Amino acid sequence: MKPKILVHGRMAYKCPECGAIKTIQLEIGVEDFGRHGRRHQPSPFMIPCSCGDFMMDVSGCKPYPAPFELDANTPYFAYDDSGKDGACGKLHTYESVTRETIRMIFERSSKQEGSHETKTDIT
Ligand SMILES: [Zn+2]
Repeated sequence: MKPKILVHGRMAYKCPECGAIKTIQLEIGVEDFGRHGRRHQPSPFMIPCSCGDFMMDVSGCKPYPAPFELDANTPYFAYDDSGKDGACGKLHTYESVTRETIRMIFERSSKQEGSHETKTDIT
């Protein structure tokens, strides 16, 4: 089954080092101040850039007229439903179920070799 992710807005991040700009979609609950019924979560101040530096928020939240379903292969900040006080939106790329499943299996097997306490981070 395809997981359904609803987004309500977007944010632009820019890297001061290489000038790259990236648009990140916002899942319901991230940067919407509770407008859609979920407890508000901020988005990260900075996200990693492919050049090795960090990109910073340059736009703030740009809301859409109405929430809609996210397309595949689109970067977005996922709502963190861990219930932690400092919870904040997490950067993800929404991929098709098949690729996501392969990644999960791969991560599980590599984690098992390393630490004893593993928390699977599945979204
Ligand atoms: Zn960069």
